[in-house]
Amino acid sequence: MHCDICNCDDSYIKVHKHSYDIKGKKIEFKSKRRFCKNCNNLVYDDYLDNEASKKALSIYNDMFGINSNEVYKLRKQFDLSLELFSRIIGCAKKTLISYEKGKSIPNDCYLIVIKSLIEEPRIIYTLIDVNKSEFTEKEYTTIKEKINKYFDNSTNANEELNEYNGYSNYSLDKIKNIILFFSKDTVLKTKLLKEMFYSDFIYYKNNCVSITGLEYAKLPYGPVPEQYESILTKLISEKVINYKVEYNNQYECHNIKANLNYDPSVFTKEELEVLNMIKMKFLNFGSKELADYSHKEKAYTDTKPGEKISYDYAFDIEI
Ligand SMILES: [Zn+2]
Repeated sequence: MHCDICNCDDSYIKVHKHSYDIKGKKIEFKSKRRFCKNCNNLVYDDYLDNEASKKALSIYNDMFGINSNEVYKLRKQFDLSLELFSRIIGCAKKTLISYEKGKSIPNDCYLIVIKSLIEEPRIIYTLIDVNKSEFTEKEYTTIKEKINKYFDNSTNANEELNEYNGYSNYSLDKIKNIILFFSKDTVLKTKLLKEMFYSDFIYYKNNCVSITGLEYAKLPYGPVPEQYESILTKLISEKVINYKVEYNNQYECHNIKANLNYDPSVFTKEELEVLNMIKMKFLNFGSKELADYSHKEKAYTDTKPGEKISYDYAFDIEI
């Protein structure tokens, strides 16, 4: 190691107290650096110099920004690639790599996005939709699939049992098979969602627990499972069902068709009886007739728009 100031080739290492000014914030810390034996000035040392600037950044990030580990963890929790995640938060892939490696400090705008995502991961759905044009259809489906998987595993696992999920644990397996059951012959999406509602609520009326653990909400076109969009997106991307939009006069018809047979073994005998009963009851109902029918339910009329529907209304349903 050579000293540029006095041309001496002898050097030694000692702990040095650093005081940096990063983005107007004062950072102080100690780390080893190399010095000239002759004039005691700092001597360039690739490894030690690098360690010192890494330490400075990490201290800054811990105090004022974000730890590079947290950025990495955030991306990994959604199981997303650098390529896709960088486009979701709107920065270049190279920039994201440097954040994850702690080589640079996120700009304030990215910092806000990253911190918001850590606090409220569901913001990712908004980010994806805002940046939708950045993705190919295939990429968009992949992203949705991965984040749905994350939320399926994280949020529903510890959910408490209450009147809104019908005192049942959320069962993606049952949800999937109910959808397969009702979409064996092509079914309109709006009809399917209402058949799910009646299946869960009628089963609850008889047994005081729901089949799927799904929560239902009051939307303008009827009672529907909460997050039904993410459930359908997941099943479409896994090729479990086919989704097709067709036009009948000027009406948009969202058709769903099962690609597999449903698995009866995930249901009890009583659950299957309810499913068959609901299927027969509404066999000749169009989507609109079923919507009009469900709009008269107390579960619907007595719930405020957008709010969750209590399974206790099941006792007012007459079928
Ligand atoms: Zn020197």
